[in-house]
Amino acid sequence: MDAPAISIVAPAYNEAKNIAAFVAAITPVLEGLGEPWEIVFVDDGSRDDTIGLLVAARATEPRIKVIALARNFGKDVALSAGLAHARGRAVIPIDCDLQHPVELIPELVAKWRAGAEMVLAVRTTRAEEGLVRRSLAGLYYSLMQRMNDVAIPRNAGDFRLLDRKIVDVINQMPERCRFMKGIFAWPGFKTETVPFQARPRAGGDSGWSLFKLWRFALDGLFSFSTAPLKIWTYIGGLAAAGAFVYLAITIVQKLVWGIAAPGYASLLIVMLFFSGLHLLSNGIQGEYLARIFEEVKGRPLFVVSRKWGLDDDAPPRDPAP
Ligand code: UDP
Ligand code: MG
Repeated sequence: MDAPAISIVAPAYNEAKNIAAFVAAITPVLEGLGEPWEIVFVDDGSRDDTIGLLVAARATEPRIKVIALARNFGKDVALSAGLAHARGRAVIPIDCDLQHPVELIPELVAKWRAGAEMVLAVRTTRAEEGLVRRSLAGLYYSLMQRMNDVAIPRNAGDFRLLDRKIVDVINQMPERCRFMKGIFAWPGFKTETVPFQARPRAGGDSGWSLFKLWRFALDGLFSFSTAPLKIWTYIGGLAAAGAFVYLAITIVQKLVWGIAAPGYASLLIVMLFFSGLHLLSNGIQGEYLARIFEEVKGRPLFVVSRKWGLDDDAPPRDPAP
């Protein structure tokens, strides 16, 4: 069989309701491209019958490849597993809940053929999200823009086209903290964008709680910027300078007028304020320390329990799990 030119990488976690519709929607689009293609599904330890459905889909369409991870590793790791196995000259990560419009794929591919090495699908509106979530997202992006060494494009998610060159770089990035928005942006290369509108999930539900979003936001900040770590030099410097000024004022006060009040309240406030700052700075150092700990263990990023249609297939046995 021809080596695929276009690889689709679709992580799937509990997507039994969506697999058939997704395959039915994307297959004609890929056929229309006129080049050999493959779809690499990564089952991220689903608890429903996602894997059975994927293997069944492969039985009728051998260009569908399946990787089963040994447990739920999270979407970013599942995506990384897919990228490591995709063989196309262009690779398109996409969600299989039909939120990313498959009709956009020809446009992504067209820009790639015209010379772009990364083609971002950028959301034009986030109208399907609430006002609070939208403004928080806006705030977050501008903060990230300011703090990061690499610019993370606004409103672009995983849905995009990556040239082989970029995929090869990403496959070499060993970090365990897979903040994909940052990882995708880091290699650079010639980038173009295509606007799109995200759709509501076709079936099932998304597991994003507010707390998970918060952790995700922090992950992005701490794994792609050292600014929160370095800022304490300046905060400390400012505090020390302030203390010096206050010292000078106090000496003059003492010498000229004498000091009458014992200053109990001011002492307490200053103490509490700086204890708070200390704990905060310790906490932020802890965030980095925890990340160093994760990295330093050097565990494999993901564990594959079985593959279908990819190089080192497990010994043949009944394909149904
Ligand atoms: N996903 C995954 N592992 C997870 C959670 C999600 O592989 O632990 C997949 C999921 O099946 C979907 C994609 O990642 O294809 C996006 O997930 P979801 O729709 O829950 O996120 P959202 O669209 O809300 O960002
Ligand atoms: Mg989704």
